Amino acid sequence: RQAAAARPIQALPDQLISQIAAGEVVERPSAVVKELLENALDAGATQISVRLEEGGVKRIAITDNGRGIPPEQMPLALARHATSKISSLHDLENVGTLGFRGEALASIASVAAVTLTSRTADAPHAWELVGSHEGTVAPSSGALGTTIDVQDLYFNTPARRKFLKSEQTEFGHCAEVVRRIALARPDVSFSLTHNGRTIDHWNVCDMARRSAQILGEGFAEARLPIDETAGPLRIHGYTGLPTASKARADGQFFYVNGRFVRDKVLVHAVKAAYQDVLHGDRFPSYALALELDPALVDVNVHPSKIEVRFRDSRAVHQFVFHAVQRALAQTSATSHGSVPS
Ligand code: ADP
Ligand code: MG
Repeated sequence: RQAAAARPIQALPDQLISQIAAGEVVERPSAVVKELLENALDAGATQISVRLEEGGVKRIAITDNGRGIPPEQMPLALARHATSKISSLHDLENVGTLGFRGEALASIASVAAVTLTSRTADAPHAWELVGSHEGTVAPSSGALGTTIDVQDLYFNTPARRKFLKSEQTEFGHCAEVVRRIALARPDVSFSLTHNGRTIDHWNVCDMARRSAQILGEGFAEARLPIDETAGPLRIHGYTGLPTASKARADGQFFYVNGRFVRDKVLVHAVKAAYQDVLHGDRFPSYALALELDPALVDVNVHPSKIEVRFRDSRAVHQFVFHAVQRALAQTSATSHGSVPS
């Protein structure tokens, strides 16, 4: 290993900065799917379609019926550190949108061939931007809303492309991201196709129906509703009876202010609530949403925002633990301690 040769310090070119960021923001196709779905939801879409080819590596095209992007702002949508979602530290600390970093589209555009097509309500037709923020915005056709078409992911970063797994594995990760997001938003319809085949389609419905569709009828028959509020904290959703537990942790969905998270505090709180009713090697299934003042939780911990930090994690742990424990206790009371099969 050699010391770096003495070279002058230079500012990196924009494209390279985005490619470096892409390593974190768009680790694999499913991360692109997540970013694009979150943008569609932030734009108020009620109908979203996801079309994938070859596990998303060949193509990820997401169409929404959200508010669209005016033509003069389309280059900015692909520019780095440009966002319509926050404009101050105060906004950041109270963020209510899924996105706010303004780097997803720029990162994606730096490692794939991107076409952005969008039409706002007051525009007579759609507009299209190909490539990057340096491209030209040209008239196009298309319905109200936005389509982002991402092709040939990592075509220009072969080292990263090598880390991709098989088409089926990458597709599986993409489908999981769609399920996660769809589970939290029964008020939005989602469709997913892979290589032209329809894989999933969920119409607008309520949480009871959506959770049955995504977690299975087995979960629907063995779920306990939870809805509790204490001070600034609210938890709602469903937690499964021990009969709905699994040998793997793949039925666990926790959302914080609408965002799917993997958080040790939350996972532990639920696990602790099940301690008396579930064998240690089983994993409870649940679809739970925690809502709290955005100022009480920091979502800006990691670019993918899958981790969060609570200002008072002890209070959150207690709250979640007791809410789940109470839900479980109620059934054992009504069923006289026995677990319905
Ligand atoms: P962020 O979501 O953090 O703001 P992105 O790079 O994901 O950053 O998107 C940049 C901007 O492009 C967003 O702030 C938004 O204004 C616009 N945008 C992206 N996707 C959509 C969409 N599907 N519909 C409407 N506007 C969008
Ligand atoms: Mg975004």
